Amino acid sequence: MHVSVLGAGTMGHGIAQVSAMAGHEVTMRDIEDEYVQNGLDAIERNLQGGVDRDKVTPDEMSATLERISGTTSLEDAVAGADLVIEAVPENMDLKRDTVSDVESLVGDDTIIASNTSSLSVTEIMSALDDPGRGIGLHFFNPVHIMGLVEVVVAEQTAADTLGFATEYVEGIGKAVVEVGDSPGFASSRLGVALGVEAMRMVQEGVASPRDIDASMELGYNHPMGPIELGDVVGLDVRLGILEYLREELGERFRPPQILKRKVRAGKLGKKTGEGFYVWEDGEIVGVSEDVMSR
Ligand code: NAD
Repeated sequence: MHVSVLGAGTMGHGIAQVSAMAGHEVTMRDIEDEYVQNGLDAIERNLQGGVDRDKVTPDEMSATLERISGTTSLEDAVAGADLVIEAVPENMDLKRDTVSDVESLVGDDTIIASNTSSLSVTEIMSALDDPGRGIGLHFFNPVHIMGLVEVVVAEQTAADTLGFATEYVEGIGKAVVEVGDSPGFASSRLGVALGVEAMRMVQEGVASPRDIDASMELGYNHPMGPIELGDVVGLDVRLGILEYLREELGERFRPPQILKRKVRAGKLGKKTGEGFYVWEDGEIVGVSEDVMSR
């Protein structure tokens, strides 16, 4: 199969890598040569890491790299594609324009997927003349490690499109969960619900961030507690998702003041060195001083 991936960023290069590892021919497109090259370099580094840990053989690595090409031309990227997956930035107008441009360049049978993590797939795909060919494929970061893809069935998604997408996801060795096109899908809605309640508990002084995280890690076997996860994802990203879910689903997703204050202060979590925790070299070294703790 020929898979075309639009966007060579965090998600795009990961989707390109796992598709090529499964034996598909892949073309990855970004808007600047530099971004395309960054994506290709990241794939090579990931694969080399796999070789170093004996998870990937050197032959698999070179065969995978041979199956991936990069380009800045949309026309070249989608030529002959059976499946186009867009992983461009999370912006409705950009995504609608992107899928519409793709449709004008591909044959009638090409499936067009969006990797949006929060936007309505139905609204994105309504930019198509044939919206039945549109579907959501929500991958998780880092793509080559995470075992799940949410297959998001939009209002107009045709049964054949769903069948094709499910087969592709299973073929790249990921588990499928099928979800309707509802805000936050299944994973973000539940994950964010836990995260927002944990922040409210910190705000109310119920327990410290470390104790809240430990209660989920040790009591429920979560690999990472909800406060730490918020810091890792980015508090600005969390706030954006909460505002959207509040608008769509109601007050239970209202962002707590403590989160707004953090974001206004530029304390966005791991990426800025401080969120609810203090971070150094990618590791937690303490709890932020302005967090109420007991
Ligand atoms: P990113 O910023 O790392 O990458 C986006 C890339 O798209 C950039 O390299 C940018 O130059 C490129 N781009 C911009 N316009 C383009 C165009 N018209 N054609 C091709 N490329 C274009 O972003 P990301 O984190 O990879 O997110 C991409 C999508 O994946 C978003 O919809 C996001 O919501 C979703 N997503 C992200 C995560 C995550 O954890 N980062 C997880 C699941 C889904």
